Amino acid sequence: MNKIIRCTRCVMDNNTDPDIYFYRNGTCNYCTDALKHMSEMYYPNEHGELKIQEMVKQLKNQNFGSKYDCIMGISGGLDSSYLLYLGKQWELIILCVHVDDGFNTNTANENVAKLLKATDYDCISVKPCFPQYNALLKAYLKASVPTVTIPQDNVLFAELYSIIQREGISYFLSGGNFAQESINTKSYGTLMGADLINIQSIHGAHGTEPIDKLSFFSTDEYNRFKELGIETITPLNYINYNKKDALITLSKFCDYQYYEGKHLENIWTAFMHTVWLPQKFGLDLRTNYLSSLIISGQIDRDEALLILKQPYCDAEKLAMYISVIKNRLNITDVEFDDIMSAPVRQHTDFENSEEYKRNLFTIPTSINVDTKVIIFGAGNWGEYAYKILEGRCSIIGFYDNNDEKHFTEFFSRKILPPPGHLMHRDCQENLVVIACKDSDSVITQLNKSGYGRGIYKFDYDESLIYKV
Ligand SMILES: [Zn+2]
Repeated sequence: MNKIIRCTRCVMDNNTDPDIYFYRNGTCNYCTDALKHMSEMYYPNEHGELKIQEMVKQLKNQNFGSKYDCIMGISGGLDSSYLLYLGKQWELIILCVHVDDGFNTNTANENVAKLLKATDYDCISVKPCFPQYNALLKAYLKASVPTVTIPQDNVLFAELYSIIQREGISYFLSGGNFAQESINTKSYGTLMGADLINIQSIHGAHGTEPIDKLSFFSTDEYNRFKELGIETITPLNYINYNKKDALITLSKFCDYQYYEGKHLENIWTAFMHTVWLPQKFGLDLRTNYLSSLIISGQIDRDEALLILKQPYCDAEKLAMYISVIKNRLNITDVEFDDIMSAPVRQHTDFENSEEYKRNLFTIPTSINVDTKVIIFGAGNWGEYAYKILEGRCSIIGFYDNNDEKHFTEFFSRKILPPPGHLMHRDCQENLVVIACKDSDSVITQLNKSGYGRGIYKFDYDESLIYKV
């Protein structure tokens, strides 16, 4: 293993992410980005108070067709529990959904019961078909991929969205928050939880039971819900969300009990964080959580380093997690050892929707391996275009109209000032593929600048790149 280099501001290191980038002063790209985006995502101030008032008004006024203002998933974990408490203070009418996947800790289940009693909210409790669900989790272990909680997330969202549709609800309250989650390791091969093609592929390779009795959620459905205007709101970003204060408040409100650490309210999630990732992948994702807390000013770096030196949880707990997993998933001791020592794989080693989409794309023959291409747009669309075009032509860089992005890098390529910009340096031999929302104004911009080479447009929805 390479020498561990750790950021001098947060606690991210090159073991948690081999692609981490360090600046000359020793700080990393993660905390630098988080700090840069903090003011536009996290409002622990008067601005946040205003946002809450607006949000409550919006949810109350637009709940036509439903007796509920919004829906939320509750796990008994701190974030969703505290959000539920706040929702009650804001007098919102919330429909709760609780997924009992058989791995909730007793503490989490008791917390859910206490919260529901104290808030008097309606709750729909959902249980997936255990034999099929457990067999799918086992397939994930046998596939040796890192994020074995994907089936769990997918099933939860499938239930949430089917209830949203049935009840005619327009708003989904999420416990996602900047204060404790601003930093997330990017490069250990994660895919979207809604990538049903990937789930089916892993099931196809290692599953032993059918999965026809489980509800799933796909990227297409995710996009459809967005089109229907179903909105996800993250109110914990509008308050000074402090973990210690939240625990004290919840304990007074309903005798809420803490469960030792983030992600440990569910035995499957706890197993992934304390056994699976550290022992098989050498990953301790507490670095993400602790770095986020440093950035939101809840702990200092020395305190975080001390926590990292301690084991995630005690040996007795680890043994309990492993024993529960073996028991529920019918894994023998020998089989478990084989699974733990099998070579590591990535989610992308299995079929996935990105690959599927890539194969679906029609690209004109004028763009081929010998063509030099600059992608116009270094945002989400640019990222999609990059993934589609990578390996099919020579991508030499990006153009973007945002001055702040100029001469920084995107997918290890330079972002350049576009034609028409004062700083632009002409690159005669390149084709331009426009990959941004407002492509018409970019076409006008390129035409005005006298850009006479090939101009192409990237159309994600139609899976097409065509000459303008
Ligand atoms: Zn950092």
